[in-house]
This record gives sequence, structure tokens and C-alpha cells, in this order.
Amino acid sequence: MLTLTVIFALIAYFHFDHNYPICVTAKRSAEMHHEPYITHGPERVTRWLITCDHATNLIPDHINGGCLGLSPEDMERHIAYDVGAAGVSRHLADILHGTAVMANFSRLVIDPNRGEGDPTLLMRLYDGSVVPGNRNACENEKQRRLATLHRPYHNAVASFAERRKDTVIIAIHSFTPKLQGRPHRPWQVAVLHSKDRRFSDPLVKRLMLEPDLVVGDDQPYFGYLPDDSIDRHGRAQNRPHALIEIRNDLIMDDQGQAEWAERLAPILEEVLLKTGL
Ligand SMILES: [Zn+2]
Repeated sequence: MLTLTVIFALIAYFHFDHNYPICVTAKRSAEMHHEPYITHGPERVTRWLITCDHATNLIPDHINGGCLGLSPEDMERHIAYDVGAAGVSRHLADILHGTAVMANFSRLVIDPNRGEGDPTLLMRLYDGSVVPGNRNACENEKQRRLATLHRPYHNAVASFAERRKDTVIIAIHSFTPKLQGRPHRPWQVAVLHSKDRRFSDPLVKRLMLEPDLVVGDDQPYFGYLPDDSIDRHGRAQNRPHALIEIRNDLIMDDQGQAEWAERLAPILEEVLLKTGL
């Protein structure tokens, strides 16, 4: 009886080894297809290219079976995506007659707004929530997520941007009114800068002229991050660009998203004209 118990225990040990099956499962399921990005108005070839890195909280089926082990409440929070940013991006593209390119996977799977060498590319802990599906993600798994999601999205942004020599990139993000244990954030809208501020400086100054707005200048966080999306597709390519952050409680529904796009679009046109870029 004891021998049989030992045999079963050994079978169970090798069968359920903790590290090995995670990568095997990942390799097998890599064949399942998931569109890594979506576009809005791809036929419109104007100067304006709107990008939305954190458009969705979607976990593709080929990632951990479509679930990272977080609660539905956590998946609806800002940790999984930028609430309202996709809607603003679509409306903005419509008004400016441009194209919007949006990542079609949650930033928790792999963050499109991080360079490939950034240590926060694949987060295991975010604003107080552990991400169980990432806890044991090995280097192979990270490479697979880069190859199936992160790179195809960036390749799409690059090829849409290359359609014209004078493309202007506007990255749309949103931020939570309050991080856990931190003070309320007063800004309704903010501009983050890369090291090329030719467009973003005049934009933030112009927004500050709006009497009803509290405008963040490189808030709620410092904007420059080497090899993030605007650094890569904007600064490194010498294209005019800005990253706009909108407080997410203002863009929870379609009406708020449309209103912010209608407000921002003429300001963007005006600033571009004035800079002569
Ligand atoms: Zn974002």
C-alpha cells in the first residue's frame, strides 16, 4: 500500500511540476489567433495619427486561457486599461479625419507603452493588486507575448505613421482620479512630454488658457520614458507628437468621450498651425 502511495506521489510530482507546464501550455496555445490591434478610419490618410496603447482590458484566449486570475472588479479598473481612452481616440480620429490605431490587449498582458527592455513591461503587481497569471511568466512567455501582441501593434503604428512624411502622433491615455492611499488628482487633462517638446509645450500652454481647466504639465507622472510609444514613434522619428492624459471619471461614457474629443480637436489643429511644424 505504501509503495503504491509513493508511486502515485511521484507521478503527481512530475505531472504537476510548477514551472514546466506553464511554458508548454503557452507554446501550444500560441497557435490560437487574436488580432493584436484594431484600427478606426484606416482609409483616412491625413497628418493625424491617433494611438491608444491602453485601449482595452481584453485578455486574449492564448494568454493563460484568457484570464490572468484577477477579479472582474480589478479588470474594470485603470490597472487593466485606460478607461474611456478608446472612445476618445475614435471620436478624435473622426473629427480630425485621421486614423486611430488601438492595442487590442490589456496592458497587464504586456504593456504596449513600454520598451522591450523595460522592467515594467510585464507587471506582477499593480496599484496594490497581484497579477496571478503573470507571477510565473518566464522569459519564453514574455518573448511570446512580445511576438504575438506587442510587436505587431507597434509595427502597425509604424506603418500607418510612415504613410506620410508629416504625420503627427497624438497618444491618448487616461488616468485614475486617485491611486490607493494617495491624494486626489486635481487635473482634468494633462500633457506628458518626451525630450522633443516642439508640439507638446505649445499644446500644454494653450490648454492652460481654458479658464475651466486644471491642466497637468508632465502630471500625474513624469512623461519621458525611453523607448515608450511616443519616444519611439514620435521623437525618434522626428515627428510632431504629444501624449494627452484625461482623467477617467470625465470620459466614462460615450457622451463624455465625444465632448472631450470635440474640445481637443480644434485646439490640436490650432497648435499645429501656430507651431508651423
Ligand atoms: Zn495609458
